[in-house]
Amino acid sequence: MRLEGKVALVTGAARGIGKSIAFVFAQEGASLAICDVDANLINETVGELSKFKTKVEGFVVDVTNFNQSSETINKILDKFNKIDILVNNAGITRDNLFLRMSEEEWDKVIAVNLKGTFNFTKALTRQFLKQRSGKIVNIASIIGIMGNAGQANYAASKAGIIGLTKALAREFGSRNINVNAVAPGFIETDMTAKLPEEVKAKMLTQIPLARFGKPEDVANLCLFLASEDSSYITGQAFIIDGGMLMQ
Ligand code: NAP
Repeated sequence: MRLEGKVALVTGAARGIGKSIAFVFAQEGASLAICDVDANLINETVGELSKFKTKVEGFVVDVTNFNQSSETINKILDKFNKIDILVNNAGITRDNLFLRMSEEEWDKVIAVNLKGTFNFTKALTRQFLKQRSGKIVNIASIIGIMGNAGQANYAASKAGIIGLTKALAREFGSRNINVNAVAPGFIETDMTAKLPEEVKAKMLTQIPLARFGKPEDVANLCLFLASEDSSYITGQAFIIDGGMLMQ
């Protein structure tokens, strides 16, 4: 088992990609602290994860709230004694053409995606530096690399996450802390389910592997980045998109 004895924290883990990451990590022996805003959904996910013989606890937290984020980290450290892996996954979209985009739509997306990543990383930094080890995996998006009409807020937040990842990789490298980003393309979750069928059909024609990604595809890449198999990799943004964006 690749994460035996490790403690992992995943934000936005009640459903979608975050939930899949929690499942793959649990399968590989990690203890799990799963964080999300929806208490009922977290309890459901914690229940589903109980089939694995590993410790799992759910925490209700809004990642946009700085104090709540650091209180949650303290609670997790109390219950688990340490944290080895942080996956900043919580994210939202509020799509609109820039001309019509409201200040609220801009602020909300930046607050969850970028500030949320800052809040959890900041709250854990002292601990990671002290223990001289840690794995940080930030969930970005190919939109943060290529841009997309109607997603200026989302693209800016995800490009910001990639920049943050690289800066922290440079700051934390000497303390044996790996910081990497994952940039998925189109993954089948509730987030993408709401897109119009014609948009999905058009997108599919641009994917060489001729299928949309599954949450498990992203989770398996996160497993690699959270494990010792990737110990000489830091400051990178890994595209996982079926070949949609080649660089
Ligand atoms: P999802 O199904 O909508 O799940 C996102 C989770 O994050 C939900 O459980 C959501 O809770 C939670 N969340 C939202 N705001 C939060 C907050 N303020 N504090 C704590 N948790 C919060 O989305 P997904 O598709 O799994 O996306 C996961 C990550 O992958 C996101 O960062 C997304 O940008 C990224 N991504 C997804 C795709 C894709 O195609 N799906 C592509 C590229 C990148 P509620 O629902 O209760 O609000």
